[in-house]
Amino acid sequence: MIIKSPRDNYDIVIVGGGMVGGTFAVTLSETLKDKGLKILVVETNAPLTRKQSQVGFDSRSTALSFGSKKILNDSSIWLEVGKKAEPIRNIIVSDKGRFGRTKISSEEQNLEALGFVVENKDLVLTLNNRLSSSRTIDYFTEAKISSVSPRANGMKFDISTDESSWSVSSALLVLAEGGRSSVCEKLGIARTHQDYKQHAIVTNVAFENGHAGNAFERFTDTGPLAVLPLRKFKTENRCSVVWSVNYHESDHILTLNQEALRNKLQDSFGHRLGRIVKVGKLDCFPLRLSVAREQIRPGIVLLGNVAHTLHPVAGQGMNLALRDMEALVKSIGKGIEEGSSCGDMRVLQRYLEKQADDHYEIIMLTDRLVSLFSSSATTNVMARKFGLLSLELFPSLRKTFARKAMGLV
Ligand SMILES: Cc1cc2nc3c(=O)[nH]c(=O)nc-3n(C[C@H](O)[C@H](O)[C@H](O)COP(=O)(O)OP(=O)(O)OC[C@H]3O[C@@H](n4cnc5c(N)ncnc54)[C@H](O)[C@@H]3O)c2cc1C
Repeated sequence: MIIKSPRDNYDIVIVGGGMVGGTFAVTLSETLKDKGLKILVVETNAPLTRKQSQVGFDSRSTALSFGSKKILNDSSIWLEVGKKAEPIRNIIVSDKGRFGRTKISSEEQNLEALGFVVENKDLVLTLNNRLSSSRTIDYFTEAKISSVSPRANGMKFDISTDESSWSVSSALLVLAEGGRSSVCEKLGIARTHQDYKQHAIVTNVAFENGHAGNAFERFTDTGPLAVLPLRKFKTENRCSVVWSVNYHESDHILTLNQEALRNKLQDSFGHRLGRIVKVGKLDCFPLRLSVAREQIRPGIVLLGNVAHTLHPVAGQGMNLALRDMEALVKSIGKGIEEGSSCGDMRVLQRYLEKQADDHYEIIMLTDRLVSLFSSSATTNVMARKFGLLSLELFPSLRKTFARKAMGLV
């Protein structure tokens, strides 16, 4: 429920009620509802209104794997979000101007879909509504943590709004504030960065033909281009585009007029979905790998972009965060049964041990894909050809690769 002032003490306080923090809060309260946990979510933004979340042509979206859908299903978040999600039936991977292409299909994997494209505002609105109507979660918006320090059994911090400030303590502080965490800075939690010197240009595009559930990952000399199926807007055949290009190229793209933009995108993507009829509003994000050097401390755990911010080439940031979140909820539940406090290092260590390999694999996979698919160096071109050809020729390899990407391994 929305609150005007927090209590003095909670079991778990979540800083950031965005896609990761909001999902974690709802999943935690659903899964451990019989444990009587006192949960607080602190969020700087006001909840999204229905009007703000109305469908328009422009909107950001996220591709969720089949495994992520299962996680969201367990907390019944999917009940709402799933109604508006667009299924991905096939993923077609190709290399611009070169031989080599492979198709991964849901039919071959015996699944209804390989994944789903969700508009971020649909997920955020569902989460905001769940947090606002929850009887077990205190939802404190337009508020932030102004100071933080460890105490004997957990953390102590001040929460402030424009009008007032409160001193609060909790056994566990979950940091889900996104890529720029002011609480991590206050605590001196350092990060390792790798700048890819690329920007993601994100936009929605209307094509002459419908996408028929196909998602495309196309590798070009300037960087990877992803085209994801979206639900129609009025009569327009909409797709979401994530176009990763170097800084120089993105500066140029951002100055193009509508016609020049359509031509440039058409040249990179080709005519798989016919003519490009319209390109929507462009957003631009700098791309880098940024990983917190400490994922846990006594009474603290990092989730989502605070923990690891990845390049979107493999669409894995949110999917990895959802698996982390599921593992953390399980470890907290087990800890409570064993009589441990939520912020006990045994609970957090167990979570990290469960997820460490997943973190490593996804970070390495994403990083390798960026270098492999953002270069026209001969060795990389040959490796791409070999990779795509191997996937095309060997169904068992394709299956293993697909199951990993779908979060089912
Ligand atoms: C171009 C692009 C495409 C992507 N595509 C995909 C994809 O297809 N699939 C996929 O799995 N991932 C994808 N990702 C990654 C995905 O977007 C992120 O993993 C996800 O947004 C992380 O969510 P988050 O909640 O951690 O952070 P955010 O979404 O940044 O949320 C942080 C929240 O914390 C709040 N906040 C910030 N500071 C404070 C504070 N001090 N106090 C309180 N609240 C605070 C903010 O208001 C916000 O609500 C993509 C990323 C990019 C850039």
